[in-house]
Amino acid sequence: MASPLDTVKPQVRALRAYSLVAERTRVKLNQNENPWDVPVEIKQETVRRINERAWSRYPDFTPLQFHETLAEFSGWKPEGVLAGNGSNELIQAVLMVTVGPGKRVLISEPTFALYRQITTVLGGEVLSVPLTPELTYDAEALLSAIKTTQPDVTIVCSPNNPTGCVMEASDLAKLLEASSGLVVVDEAYFEFSGQTAVPLLSRHPNLIVLRTFSKAMALAALRVGYLLGDPDLVREVGKALLPYNLNALSQTAAEVALEMFASNLAPLVQKICSERDRLYAELQNMPGLIPVRSRANFMVVRSQLEPRRVFDELLRRDILIRDVSKYPMLQECFRVSVGTPEENDLLIASLREILGAS
Ligand SMILES: *Cc1c(COP(=O)(O)O)cnc(C)c1O
Repeated sequence: MASPLDTVKPQVRALRAYSLVAERTRVKLNQNENPWDVPVEIKQETVRRINERAWSRYPDFTPLQFHETLAEFSGWKPEGVLAGNGSNELIQAVLMVTVGPGKRVLISEPTFALYRQITTVLGGEVLSVPLTPELTYDAEALLSAIKTTQPDVTIVCSPNNPTGCVMEASDLAKLLEASSGLVVVDEAYFEFSGQTAVPLLSRHPNLIVLRTFSKAMALAALRVGYLLGDPDLVREVGKALLPYNLNALSQTAAEVALEMFASNLAPLVQKICSERDRLYAELQNMPGLIPVRSRANFMVVRSQLEPRRVFDELLRRDILIRDVSKYPMLQECFRVSVGTPEENDLLIASLREILGAS
């Protein structure tokens, strides 16, 4: 008998849904969020502004003022900016306007799972180049894959989730020059690495840069992301977005966060980076663990003890991490986000206990 599910594309049926454990713990180190809430000054100013506007009225069709603020913050032109309901929406929009049957998307793996997921749903083909054994970008291999296959889209996550490696600007420039297709750089964590592809935008109309307010900006609950690219290309990507994709509250909060970034958020980013370096040093001294250097606010750790066991033991102690052992190349690994100093102390003490007892 025919099932309604038969109408779903076979490649979609074959996918496993992208999802996350529902657990909520006292210490939450599984999603690379900012461990501190957004500063109260930002919340209050957002609420003040939102109370002054009529909630009965739609937002502006194109949020020009917001695009200008984003452009100024990023060092790019306002006509080359597009805001979205999270950067994931913009990844999807880029792939919607470029990918279909017969189209190819090149990625390095392990990386953020959504690139493969959306490409597959859209009927495109994923080409994958592994990271080096040290879990860094293999720029040579990517370059030769681009030259031989000329993918329609190449996606580089820098810093890469989950490994934390970055692609150097000189390597990126080589990929851009060799590509007839688009090169998308996902900079969800660029505030922690201090490295960006934005200076390459003016010379490379095939470059798209994606960013988010969900990590350094501490606004994950409000879902805001943005895209930077050549204005002609940005106009095309915009065709895949629904009208009013960004709601007025989230847009206002993002504007305020940008205005107050230097005074209220940058110090938190600094603290997270120094905590990352402290956590790395502590884990490096722990027998049975080998942390991998990261330029983001998280790191992957190789573990002698099965990652699933580490996950379960930490969960019993009310600490949530990410088991990434199902990712290619990461069979022995878990990923931890950098927390507050107190949270990191708890993590360190718990890991010492768990590994000491095994
Ligand atoms: C967290 C993350 C994002 C952010 O997605 P939003 O939809 O903006 O919350 C984007 N890309 C990567 C690689 C991430 O890890």
